[in-house]
Amino acid sequence: METRKGIPVSPGIAIREAMILDTEEIHIPQRFIESERVEAEAARYEEGVRAAEQSLQREIERMGGDRGINAQILEIHKTLLGDPVLKNEILSLIRQKQYTAEHAVARTMSRYIKKFEVMDSPIIAERVHDLYDIEKLLLSTLLGSRLDTMQELDREVVVIAHNLTPAQAAKLDSKWVRGFAMDVGGKTSHTAIMARALGIPAVVALEEISTAVIAGDTVIIDGFRGLVIVDPDDATLRDYRAREANVHKVARRLRKETTLPSETIDGHRVELQANVELPQEVHAAMALGAAGIGLLRTEFIHFQKPRGGEAWHLQHYQRVLKEVGDRPVTIRTLDLGGDKGLERAEDQREENPFLGCRSIRYCFANPELFREQLRAILRASMFGRVKIMFPMVGSVGDVERAVGFFEQVKEELRQNGEQFDTEIPVGVMVEVPSLAITADQVARHVQFFSIGTNDLVQYTLAVDRGNEHVAALYDPVHPAVLRLLAASLAAGDRAGIEVSICGEMASERLYIPLLIGLGYRRLSVSPPMIPEVRRIVRSIQVYDAVRLAAQCSGLADGMEIAALLRSWARDYLPDTGW
Ligand code: PEP
Ligand code: MG
Repeated sequence: METRKGIPVSPGIAIREAMILDTEEIHIPQRFIESERVEAEAARYEEGVRAAEQSLQREIERMGGDRGINAQILEIHKTLLGDPVLKNEILSLIRQKQYTAEHAVARTMSRYIKKFEVMDSPIIAERVHDLYDIEKLLLSTLLGSRLDTMQELDREVVVIAHNLTPAQAAKLDSKWVRGFAMDVGGKTSHTAIMARALGIPAVVALEEISTAVIAGDTVIIDGFRGLVIVDPDDATLRDYRAREANVHKVARRLRKETTLPSETIDGHRVELQANVELPQEVHAAMALGAAGIGLLRTEFIHFQKPRGGEAWHLQHYQRVLKEVGDRPVTIRTLDLGGDKGLERAEDQREENPFLGCRSIRYCFANPELFREQLRAILRASMFGRVKIMFPMVGSVGDVERAVGFFEQVKEELRQNGEQFDTEIPVGVMVEVPSLAITADQVARHVQFFSIGTNDLVQYTLAVDRGNEHVAALYDPVHPAVLRLLAASLAAGDRAGIEVSICGEMASERLYIPLLIGLGYRRLSVSPPMIPEVRRIVRSIQVYDAVRLAAQCSGLADGMEIAALLRSWARDYLPDTGW
């Protein structure tokens, strides 16, 4: 049994067999096997070679009669895989040094790669690529299935990966994928947000989990405490099975409360809306009693069909609006870039994508893409209560420019005699500190603010939200952040516009009393968190929360604030059994 600690990003417990995804950039640590398992390990390696050869053969056959360069390369790979010198070398490392098959493959291949790399011959240089390719193929075969095989899943697993992009995470099927753990990532990285949206318990920033686990190992993912336990002993397994059952019991109980009003003990309403990444999440969000969609992240619709254009977006927005009925849907324009990676040509790669041509900047730089989406949003407005929101604006100038595009597209539609809601509320995400600081000026130009704490914290504290090495510095209750939260709300209130929070901070039980105490009455949260957030709202007195917020605002250190919130939660918040 081996226990590793990471960052908990999506609550819950999962106990299942491991499936390893994505061998890219994997570092295979030196792992040994016991002497009695040596022959079984050698057989596993040989079986891996056979499986890899078969997959190459299938690929060659799929190419039909094509004897072009691609088929020839695959033939070379097949020959290299079966090369007796290479095989014997790997087998003797397994037998004599008792290396795992993966480690023996990685060691042998890197020895050959190094040897070839120093040779000054273009023909041999080509072979280096081949060696890299067959190493990857062999490792992925030995470590387990790759992402492509996700479609073929027919059993429940926990997924272990080095790093998955948010778009890859969006493809995880929560029917089969019951837990999720990654080497890298932070609490508000979009892959973590996706795991939460899918209701999959998840832990990130585990450093080398993807190489410590072998496909088929039994793994426990504890998404509350941020633990991953590999190959648990019987007592641990029993303990976690009981906890897992309890989690399900509590969730069932909370779900029964979906019709209760989201109201504090002293009668203050706190509107709970849902953050949604994919239209298929909307149904569950509504069933949990969401008052609308406070944030529709449209990037994932884009990723599914990047050239889908206006019709593709319109079709998805219509589906969401139909599901939501007469409740509002806030459609955020494309927020591409940062960790929601864009496939960029080599010469356009950015050193600091979070500070680069991301989000609204990318839309400004790609006006046709932007206009297509704006047209889709306007057309969709005939099917429900649409609000539009621009992300990552940093100044009044940005707001004016975005609104300028919107007005221009409206004019085009008008000229074509097309119908749309002429009163669509226009809002902005407050997620760049410059916007929060000038919120009073910005408020005159929009109808609502939605505070994006994920980015606001990242940019205010200069801490990459997805980098596990600086995760300890990522502090949503840093006094600087609290001041911006208070100032943005005050500016919005003075201007008479709606202010809500859609960052993950609003989904965290610890922070909810503070946000209510600061005066926030509209939260947009990850759908699976709605029942828990509602329960917390229903256990708070605004009077107490205001006193708590005042106390927090008087402290100069985020750690002290967090400690105060924890002790307050112990006294006032319900024990949900987790
Ligand atoms: C945020 O930054 O808080 C936010 C909600 O947007 P995203 O997480 O998509 O960047
Ligand atoms: Mg953001």
